[in-house]
Amino acid sequence: MSAKVSERFEQRAIKLLREYRITTPPVDVSAVARALKISVSYERLDNDVSGVLLLENATAKVAINESHHRNRQRFTLAHEIGHVLLHAEGDRVFVDRRFFRNEWSSSGELREEIEANAFAASLLMPRTFLEQCVEAEGGITDIDVFRLATRFEVSEQAMTLRLVKLNYIQPD
Ligand SMILES: [Zn+2]
Repeated sequence: MSAKVSERFEQRAIKLLREYRITTPPVDVSAVARALKISVSYERLDNDVSGVLLLENATAKVAINESHHRNRQRFTLAHEIGHVLLHAEGDRVFVDRRFFRNEWSSSGELREEIEANAFAASLLMPRTFLEQCVEAEGGITDIDVFRLATRFEVSEQAMTLRLVKLNYIQPD
């Protein structure tokens, strides 16, 4: 994904949060979904399915796997919000699995999944919020990644990827 596209997602997420007056972590992703009139339910789904998005007659319905960890559910919902904002052209169905990378047949689908993930990371771990946290802490140590993940209610893995992306830490 180009730096330009990635920057567009960062700005879009920051704008949304400002609009809905969300100013501190953890980002209330359900409130964002409500504001966007996306209906959300928690349902029994196959274990490898994180969520399903149904776009029909200009309405969006999301089903989240009820048995998954809360942090993963938050990421899934943010991912589906990304699809709604970025990929809602006509009636469509998205079935999101954890290990999607090898499953998508066309590169167009893969691009959409990468974009939805990038948007989700920008929404749940907004650059501006992280800047404030890192400044307040005076830098990042290994232990801070866990504390930041807890504070933002995301997985440690998601927080690590995000901090690498924002150049706060180096990849292993
Ligand atoms: Zn997806």
